[in-house]
Amino acid sequence: MFIPPRCPNLACPQHLRPEPGFFRRRGRYRPLCRPEGVPRFRCTTCKRSFSRQTFRHDYRDHRPEWNVPLFMLLASGVGLRQSARVLDANPRSVQDKKQKIARTFELLHRNLCPGLQAGRTFVLDEEETYEGASIRPLTMPVLIEKESWFVVATAVGSIRRLAPAGSARRVRQQLEERPGLRPDQSRECVHAVLSTLAQKVPHGTILLRTDQKASYAKIAKDVFGERLVHETTAGTLVRGTHNPLFPINTTLAMTRDNCGRLRRRSWLVTKKAERLQNHLLIFTVYRNYVRRRFNRDQEANTPAKILGLLPRNLHRHEVLAWRQDWGDLSIHPMSNCGSHSVRQAVPA
Ligand SMILES: [Zn+2]
Repeated sequence: MFIPPRCPNLACPQHLRPEPGFFRRRGRYRPLCRPEGVPRFRCTTCKRSFSRQTFRHDYRDHRPEWNVPLFMLLASGVGLRQSARVLDANPRSVQDKKQKIARTFELLHRNLCPGLQAGRTFVLDEEETYEGASIRPLTMPVLIEKESWFVVATAVGSIRRLAPAGSARRVRQQLEERPGLRPDQSRECVHAVLSTLAQKVPHGTILLRTDQKASYAKIAKDVFGERLVHETTAGTLVRGTHNPLFPINTTLAMTRDNCGRLRRRSWLVTKKAERLQNHLLIFTVYRNYVRRRFNRDQEANTPAKILGLLPRNLHRHEVLAWRQDWGDLSIHPMSNCGSHSVRQAVPA
């Protein structure tokens, strides 16, 4: 049975330090979308009413039953419009739902992975894609942990690619490109991704593997200073399992498979860079917490389990169960009755 862990009113003293018996039960209500009733409560301090729904990701959703199937469709290479057709939904509602899911997933990833052990090896590379048309290219750095293939951070930013002078594409670029030069955010994005890693691993050596792009060495040195050990691999090396960049090459291939908009020679296209970033958050949660690391692994063996962040894999409905916007006070996705916060260990 659900027991409210705190008062959902942020201004109420019972939110930060809930005392036993801070609420009274006030029956149940029957939502149209669920067969079972939802318990209601009233805070004895601020006198506000709330229900179990107030603590959930699908709070105020009109069609909560679409959330989990939409998450799986968007993590399976299906586009937004086709997802809407499958669910018999309006494409606009599917877009809104995707953004809400991505907001929860960004916080969930932050809450479940506040830090990582020092002494691990991390692998970084960038994928190139575009927004709208290929004359507006984007870069997408992805940073993973080498053994578990855990996706630590991703970013998306615009880059500049001028076609060779005199070519037909160059002419088209000059005609179609908006006034002013397109900003090149590649360095900023790589810096952001490495800074996230620096926050998660505040002490100890960082072993970083990348290709030989010159800017990586400088940015990594800026971010990590003396604790950096940087190994580079030539882009000419055969791209097999023995290549030190194999984990990141395969992860980028997975992003292209699981996010339809990254697939090559596809009709699907990113219209705005921030929507790609949203989609990458959905990929990150699916990859780290739901999907097993390799097909040969046991089902519970997700990257997050291998790193000791969770005792098992999360089920698809668990990642979309509880709202995650209360930081360390958010309810743990594995806690059915709402009693454990993300900082408390939940039995598997
Ligand atoms: Zn209250």
